[in-house]
Amino acid sequence: MERFTIRIVADEAGPAACALCGQAQGPVAGPRLFLADGADPVCRDCGQRHAAELIALLDLAKSAKRLGRVCRHTLIPPLGSLLALARAAEEYAHSSAKPLQHAA
Ligand SMILES: [Zn+2]
Repeated sequence: MERFTIRIVADEAGPAACALCGQAQGPVAGPRLFLADGADPVCRDCGQRHAAELIALLDLAKSAKRLGRVCRHTLIPPLGSLLALARAAEEYAHSSAKPLQHAA
């Protein structure tokens, strides 16, 4: 069973291949999913299959960051941004509600 971790990528590194399927991935700065002992990121599709809870957490962080940027310049955030954050929070809550599998 693979172990995954989230790392913050400070700079947009060059394109990389998914550590699991080899699919090319574009450069993205910010939080990304990695194998715990690997240097290459894991693509969203593989992450969804193997670590759905962490993908939901990444989506929640991205939605919160997007809303935070908008709120910095407006008094009342747009309803669409609030709904996107609520949806991401719901997805995370749903994915983390599943029981964890422990190694025997
Ligand atoms: Zn992949």
